[in-house]
Amino acid sequence: MSYIRFHAVERASNRKVVVVPPPQAKISEFFGCKVFNRKAMAKYLSKETFRAITHAIDFGEPVSLELAAHIAPAMRMWAMENGATHYTHWFHPLTDGTAEKHDAFVERDGNGGMIEEFSGKILAQQEPDASSFPNGGLRSTFEARGYSAWDPSSPAFIVGDTLFIPTIFISYAGEALDYKAPLLKSLEAVNKAAVGVCKYFNSDVTHVQSSLGCEQEFFLIDEELFNARPDIVLTGRTLMGHESAKNQQLEDHYFGAIPRRVLACMQELEYEAWKLGIPVKTRHNEVAPNQFELAPIFEECNLAVDHNLLLMSLMRDVARRHNFRVLLHEKPFKGVNGSGKHNNWSLSTNTGVNLFSPGKNSMENLRFVTFVVNTLMALYKNNALFKASTASATNAHRLGANEAPPAIISSFLGKQVSDILDAFEKSSVDDAIKVDSKKQIKLGVGQIPELLVDNTDRNRTSPFAFTGNRFEFRAIGSIANCASAMTAVNAAVAYQLKEFKTEVDALIAGGMSKKEALYTVIKKYIKESKPIRFDGNGYSEEWREEAARRGLDCETSVPLIYDAYTSPQSVKVFANGNIHSKKELETRNEVKWEIYTKKLQIEARVLGDLSHNHIIPVAIRYQSVLLDNVAKLKAVFPPEKFNELATEQLRLIEAINEHVSAVTKNAEEMIECRKKANRIEDAREKAIAYHDTVLPYFDAIRYHIDKLELLVDNEMWPLPKYRELLFVR
Ligand code: ADP
Ligand code: MG
Repeated sequence: MSYIRFHAVERASNRKVVVVPPPQAKISEFFGCKVFNRKAMAKYLSKETFRAITHAIDFGEPVSLELAAHIAPAMRMWAMENGATHYTHWFHPLTDGTAEKHDAFVERDGNGGMIEEFSGKILAQQEPDASSFPNGGLRSTFEARGYSAWDPSSPAFIVGDTLFIPTIFISYAGEALDYKAPLLKSLEAVNKAAVGVCKYFNSDVTHVQSSLGCEQEFFLIDEELFNARPDIVLTGRTLMGHESAKNQQLEDHYFGAIPRRVLACMQELEYEAWKLGIPVKTRHNEVAPNQFELAPIFEECNLAVDHNLLLMSLMRDVARRHNFRVLLHEKPFKGVNGSGKHNNWSLSTNTGVNLFSPGKNSMENLRFVTFVVNTLMALYKNNALFKASTASATNAHRLGANEAPPAIISSFLGKQVSDILDAFEKSSVDDAIKVDSKKQIKLGVGQIPELLVDNTDRNRTSPFAFTGNRFEFRAIGSIANCASAMTAVNAAVAYQLKEFKTEVDALIAGGMSKKEALYTVIKKYIKESKPIRFDGNGYSEEWREEAARRGLDCETSVPLIYDAYTSPQSVKVFANGNIHSKKELETRNEVKWEIYTKKLQIEARVLGDLSHNHIIPVAIRYQSVLLDNVAKLKAVFPPEKFNELATEQLRLIEAINEHVSAVTKNAEEMIECRKKANRIEDAREKAIAYHDTVLPYFDAIRYHIDKLELLVDNEMWPLPKYRELLFVR
């Protein structure tokens, strides 16, 4: 067998479980021990400083430099006592990952020595070189610097020997160069708008929090196998590989026993996560072989996003200690399920109410209906934007590729909530009042059960499903920074709630009672947002046609999907709360198009290289073995016998030839298309050219390579096959 492949499979199958001693204490005892949380702050800060900083966090007020100056030395002390020697501003540029630059806590002491120092100014603000991060021309290199500014609402934490300080990353003119800054603004916008609407129901509501629980899916493969696949190493996915005879058809992996090696890895991962205050709770096998899921308990949205990013980087790290590599790509393997992030999202008030839970009386239920219907309206009016917020070169292999969820945004409500909305549409205000007497059972609002036990009729194909007391946004890619999607959701819902309030207030001003006004607008919205409700099979061809008839966005080309960001509707949505200016939306799209193009560029190169250096030489070598044999047959046997004996081999030789020629021809054409696309200046046009002219060759080339994999002697095939990648562990 090919030396590299043989060696990789051999080593991978003989791996021992890396045993990690279990933590010596209860989870509750060490949870958050590496976080400068309230407990640590209370211990290290003066009473006054503690009160000031917690007040600033709770009420979203800016932290003064003076306050930062009180906090910084205490933070350093805590960090050093917990093993840190360095600090970093941790930010989320417009790439998939996070960025950090470590500095030691030292300064010159003026006497030729060093002292440990960390000032409030450094805690509050830094100036990393922004020009090397994607910025879509928002700041060209000669312009003012970008800077990172402390986000005190997400507590600092220690990884290894470094104190990590969560920060936003913005240009000198205040334009966002990251994912966090707009997310924070959208959270503030939805808080304001939702509080406004809550006032109809309860005047005590002063704050509405957006909550998020991310279920994170991922694959694990052995490190040796990973290293033997240059396509996975460089692009995160397999660009070739014939389907394994067995993959997920027996449905024997989902919720099966977690393999021991994987379990050991997960245990260590959970331990590390808990120390960092990430409340991971659920772990299980996913649908595909070697695919798993980890989910924390939901938290405040900004914190949950930070924790998800941190969890992904912990995963990469811990997996390697167990000789695994974690694949966060949305579609590492063709023919088996891909990975997503399921974002469970809800809104809750400072009075302890989840706005997506029904209540005990008709007014509380009216509030429930109000928030569900406004969310549906937001989804309906912004369905193209919601999709754009999840779109990427990698996620495109999952969305619309006949697996959960489809590339058309719709919402599944389940029978209970659908029935409630249908009944509401036909009801009148008087009905609702009568319902209070508990005699009338005509209308849904008075009788919504407090607990919506909807979990029985789940619809896995829906990209935005109501799941009892929250919405689950499933279209998000596994590797994505989900702040992008959560910013879109919160911004769209904020804008919608504001519009709702304007309409209701206008009716009240015109003399309607509050309740009547609410009813009127909600009923109108229920009617209007109907096209977004879909309970059927999201994968079906009929749905595609039906969705187009309903006017939902059905675009599947990622570069064109991004256009939704600059539609008049999106511009209005993002202008609310100054989340993004139009210019910012445009420049951020430039970044998205550039990243899209670069991802495809890399894949095209890797595919070309592998075709020429790995696949074709091996195919020809095998062909030559066959030819050699045929020549020998010819020398030994009389012509008639030879014809009989050689027919099959000659056919095989020809088949190999055909596939080799097809790979070569397609690869050459692909290179030509790439060259042509590369000459295009405009980022959008270039991305479109890559999508329309380069991408189609990937499948064409792969088709012939996968055929060759079936024809060529297994011993010679150089790359680990799907059956090895997915089943050896
Ligand atoms: P599923 O059955 O969908 O796989 P999981 O238990 O894996 O569910 O994950 C559900 C996620 O939803 C968890 O992160 C959980 O904390 C979160 N969640 C539960 N209730 C809410 C809520 N009200 N708001 C936001 N997230 C929630
Ligand atoms: Mg789950």
